[in-house]
Amino acid sequence: MNGIESILDNNRKWVKEQRAADPNFFNRLADGQQPKYLFIGCSDSRVPASAITGTGPGEMFVHRNIANMVVHTDFNMLSVLQYAVEVLGVQDIIVCGHYGCGGVAAAASNKQYGLIDGWLTNIRDVIRVHETEFLRISDDDSRLRRLVELNVIEQVRNLAKTSIIQNARKGATPPRLHGLVYDIKEGLLTNLDVEDNMISEFDHIYGTSAQKYAAKVLEAETDKAELTTNKPKLTDEKPHAASPMSQKAGKNVAASNGSQTKG
Ligand SMILES: [Zn+2]
Repeated sequence: MNGIESILDNNRKWVKEQRAADPNFFNRLADGQQPKYLFIGCSDSRVPASAITGTGPGEMFVHRNIANMVVHTDFNMLSVLQYAVEVLGVQDIIVCGHYGCGGVAAAASNKQYGLIDGWLTNIRDVIRVHETEFLRISDDDSRLRRLVELNVIEQVRNLAKTSIIQNARKGATPPRLHGLVYDIKEGLLTNLDVEDNMISEFDHIYGTSAQKYAAKVLEAETDKAELTTNKPKLTDEKPHAASPMSQKAGKNVAASNGSQTKG
């Protein structure tokens, strides 16, 4: 027996086994689900979410795509996330990567694969952000293993950037975010310990306070600019250029000062 017949046969056997072990098994599941976990993993057939986490039916809400990505324009992932957080009230959200991930390896190569290249670009963004560390690892295998880990960390951060998580974190019991990596060769899961400060590190840019932060930076720059304008002019004084945001303010000062210099 092979193909779809084998699938259907396996299914009938499984039903028999479940009923034998627990006659109420299907009735209970039919009543509804209250999973505690949301698992975002790779589509790779060697990473079966339930089997590797020891969770049964009803215990884990699952979303899988190539290379366990959290992409902000992916309405499939966002719908799963919103339902899991706002309706099911999951307590833990796991992004699970795995060593030997074909999607990660493809992104690290310079080959074209067709439609999937657009998706892989999201992993190439991870390489760009961590380029220095990535390029310093001379061994090919170790470099790819590290990229798998970095990708998981960045996808956890991507989760934190969504308005769904931002809003949930204002509540009393926001879901905890975790980054795990699965080793296909050993079957073991490792917690990458993505700390809360790593998740909230960029809140001033991505969080709901981001606009306030930008306004604060501009305000501080304007104050500084006014001080500079009112100060007696020093010949070696440089126009401040601490951040791109300050450049505009800096230019205005220079113009109003009439002290714009070349170079
Ligand atoms: Zn994979």
